Amino acid sequence: MYCSDIPAPSFLIFSSSVPYLLYYSHIPATAVSLLLGFFVYFQNRYLIGRILFGIAGVFALWSFLDLIVWTNINTEIITIAWSFFGLLYSLLYILSLYFVYVFLDGKDISSGKKSIMGLLLLPVVIFSWSTYNIAGFDLDKCEVIEGPIFTNYYYFLGLFLFVWIIAVTINRYKKADKEFRKQILFLIIGMGLFLFSFFVSGYLASHLDNFELEQYGLFGMTVFMAFLAYLIVRFKTFHVKLLGAQALVASLIILIGSELLLRTSGDRILPIFTFLLSILFGFFLIRSVKNEVKRKEELQDVTGKLEVANIELKKMDNIKSEFISIASHQLRTPLGTLKGYISMAKGGDFGEVSSQMSEALDKMKVLDDRLLQLVENLLDLSKMESGKIEYDFKKSKIEDILKELSNAFVFSAKDKGLYLHFLYPKKSLPEIEMDGGKIREVASNLIDNALKYSKEGGVTVKLEVNNNKARVIVSDSGIGIPSQEMPNLFSKFSRGNDKSRLTVSGTGLGLYVAKNMIEAHHGKIWAESDGAGKGSRFIFEIPFTQPTIPTT
Ligand code: ADP
Repeated sequence: MYCSDIPAPSFLIFSSSVPYLLYYSHIPATAVSLLLGFFVYFQNRYLIGRILFGIAGVFALWSFLDLIVWTNINTEIITIAWSFFGLLYSLLYILSLYFVYVFLDGKDISSGKKSIMGLLLLPVVIFSWSTYNIAGFDLDKCEVIEGPIFTNYYYFLGLFLFVWIIAVTINRYKKADKEFRKQILFLIIGMGLFLFSFFVSGYLASHLDNFELEQYGLFGMTVFMAFLAYLIVRFKTFHVKLLGAQALVASLIILIGSELLLRTSGDRILPIFTFLLSILFGFFLIRSVKNEVKRKEELQDVTGKLEVANIELKKMDNIKSEFISIASHQLRTPLGTLKGYISMAKGGDFGEVSSQMSEALDKMKVLDDRLLQLVENLLDLSKMESGKIEYDFKKSKIEDILKELSNAFVFSAKDKGLYLHFLYPKKSLPEIEMDGGKIREVASNLIDNALKYSKEGGVTVKLEVNNNKARVIVSDSGIGIPSQEMPNLFSKFSRGNDKSRLTVSGTGLGLYVAKNMIEAHHGKIWAESDGAGKGSRFIFEIPFTQPTIPTT
C-alpha cells in the first residue's frame, strides 16, 4: 500500500520531495562515523576499537533506516524500517555505556554488568516486532503509530543509561591522574553532547510529532566523532596522530563536499571555493603532520641509541675509576717505602755517603716524589668521581706547609738549574681552617708544574693576605699559556696542544684536582699569563675561616 502520491524514491533513499537538510544531516554524519569507526577499528582491534566500531555501525544503520522512512511511500517498507529504531536506539546507548567503562577502566566489564545490560535490552528485543512497538499505520501522515514501549521505555532507557554514563565518568574522574583527566573530559564532552542531543531531539520528535527536529540530533554524532578523533590525535602515539589527522581532514572534506552536492539552490561559487581550499589545506596539514611524525620518530630513535650508549659509557667510566683506584693504591705503598729508604740512606743509616752518592739519592728522591704526586692525583680523581673524597678541616698554618714544600722541591729546582724563591709576609698569618694535606697537594702541584714547564730562570712562591683571605701566587719564567688554552686549563685530562707542553711528562690531572680541592675550601684558583713563552702565574686563595654550615 502507498500512503502518498509523491513518486517513490530511487535507490531506496533518494527523493526530490524531502527537505534538503535531511541528506545534509544524515549522509555526512553517517560517512564520518563509519570512517572514524573503521579507522579506530583498524588502529585498535582490541575491545575498545570493536565497541566504537559497533557504535558507528549502529548509528549508520539507524541513519540509513531513517532516510528510508523519510523518503519512502510504501507502508510496508516504512513499517519494517521503523520497527528497528527502538532496538538500534537502545543498542546505541548500551554500547556507549560499554565503551565508557572500557575506556575508563582499561578492561572488559564484569559479567554482572553485562547481564544488567542484556536485561535492559531484553524487552526491546521481545517487543520490537509487536504492537507494543508499532501499533499501526497512519496513512494520512504517512507515519507509523508508535506503540507504548516506543513512547515510554526507549526514552526512559536512554535517560537512565545517560545518567549512568555520567555517574561512572564522575566517579573515575575523581581517581584519575592529571593526564587521564584531560582524556576523560574530552570523551565525556563529545559523548555527552551526542547522546544528549540524540536523546532530546528523538524525544521531542516523538512527543511533539515533529520528526524534522530529530535531524539536529544527528549533528551530535559528527561532533562526538570529531572529539574522539581529537582524543586519538592528541593523546596517542605519533603514528596514530598521522592517521587521525587524515581522518579529520577526510571528514571535513566529506562534510563540505556533501553540502555542495546536496545544495539545490543558491550560488555555488563560494562552496566550491571552500571545498577546494579545504582540500588544499588538508593536503598541507597532512604533509606537515607527516614530516613532524617522521622527525619525532627519528629523534626518538636517536635518543634511544644515545641512552644505551650513555649507560655503556657510565659503566666503562666506573670500571676505569675502580681500576685507577686499585692501581694507585698498589703503587703508593712501594713508592712511600722507597722514599723512606732514600732518606735513611742519605742520613747515613747504611754507611758513609759519598758526595756523588748523595747527589744520586737526591735525584732518586725527586723522581720518587713526582711519581708519588701523580699517584696522589689519580687517587684523588677517583675519590672525587665516586664522591668518596673526605676533608679534615683543622686550624693550621699555611706557612708551615710552604716551608715543608720548599725543602721538598729544592733538589728538583737545583737539578734543573732553576731558582726557587719563597716570599712570606712580614707579619705571620693567622691559622687557617683547612685540610692541610689537601692544600699541600695543591701548592705542590703548582710548584711542580712551574718547575716542569720552565727551562730557565726560576719560580717564585709568594704568600700574602688579601681581603681576609690567604693568597698564594706561584709565578714562573716558563713557557707561559697561550690565551686559547686558558679556558680548558682546569679541566680533566687537559694538557694543551703544543709540543713544548706535551714533551713534558704529565697527566693533565693536577690542576683539575687542585680546583676541586680549593673549591671545597670555598676558595678560588686561577691562572694568568702574558702569553706563550712569557711565564705564568697560578694563584689560589682561601678564606681564613670556613663558612659554618647550619646544622638542623
Ligand atoms: P700536567 O700533568 O699535564 O702538568 P696539570 O693539570 O697540572 O697537568 O696541568 C694541565 C696543563 O696546564 C699542562 O699540561 C700544561 O699545558 C698547563 N700548565 C700547567 N701549569 C703550567 C705552567 N706553570 N706553565 C705553563 N703551562 C702550564
